[in-house]
Amino acid sequence: MRPAQVARRASEYLARHDVDAPQATAEQLLASVLGTDRAGLYGRDEPLRAPEAKAFGRALCRRCSGVPTQHVVGWTGFRRLTLLVRAGVFVPRPETEVVVDAALEALQGIASPVVVDVGTGTGAIALSVKQERPDAKVWALDRSAEAVMLARENAARCGLAIDLAEGDLLADLDPEATGVIDLVVSNPPYVEAKAYGELPVEVRADPVGALVGGVPVYVELFAQASERLRAGGAVVVEIGEGQGAAVRRAAREAGAVDVAVRPDLNGRDRVVVATWP
Ligand code: GLN
Repeated sequence: MRPAQVARRASEYLARHDVDAPQATAEQLLASVLGTDRAGLYGRDEPLRAPEAKAFGRALCRRCSGVPTQHVVGWTGFRRLTLLVRAGVFVPRPETEVVVDAALEALQGIASPVVVDVGTGTGAIALSVKQERPDAKVWALDRSAEAVMLARENAARCGLAIDLAEGDLLADLDPEATGVIDLVVSNPPYVEAKAYGELPVEVRADPVGALVGGVPVYVELFAQASERLRAGGAVVVEIGEGQGAAVRRAAREAGAVDVAVRPDLNGRDRVVVATWP
């Protein structure tokens, strides 16, 4: 069978197993097994060879059993970057791309800004900021050693120079090393503990430490950031659905003067931008 036909069959199979976006998923899995992209898949007339068919069968099985597509293929796209992903480190999601838009906007007009990404995971936010604002000095922190290691690999592969370190929020980041900070950006763990069990199996494939937290995490982050930001500095954070009001209140209580809640591409509250005096 030609790859195009295989993809169609696989898409029907994934749909029967209630996998989201079955056609796109089938194409991604097959392209990855064949070491090509979507165009290469549809451009190939040569039928699948036996080892390719076997590898694709395994990939389909893994996806159907709840392994996220990104873990099966080993990478994901984020803004202009291709990032390695692996089990044990949070997979960056498309909705976080708007966090980077808000961060870049907050940096407008500031030359050589100092930016800290808290809970960097694969390095997605930090690396995007560095790529799109090459004059920025970017620090990226994560309390997971595995995440720091993966982010370091991603930085090297992308050819982007950022500073990576293990640390919980901002506490372990030496103030003398960073100087005053222009912007703190983060996609922190924001799922409330009681909601964890209801998350889709693909989301629960991410480490619990990158998911479960909630409003107290913002309270602590704002408290620490307010000590380290320059006058007029900002914090840009991703939030979960329904957390806009609570996170806005937390920012105000930590001394922010200007707080905006912004939606993602689906119109849901997704980003809070808070500015300190
Ligand atoms: N995006 C995850 C979700 O769908 C949560 C990520 C996070 O906690 N930062 O729930």
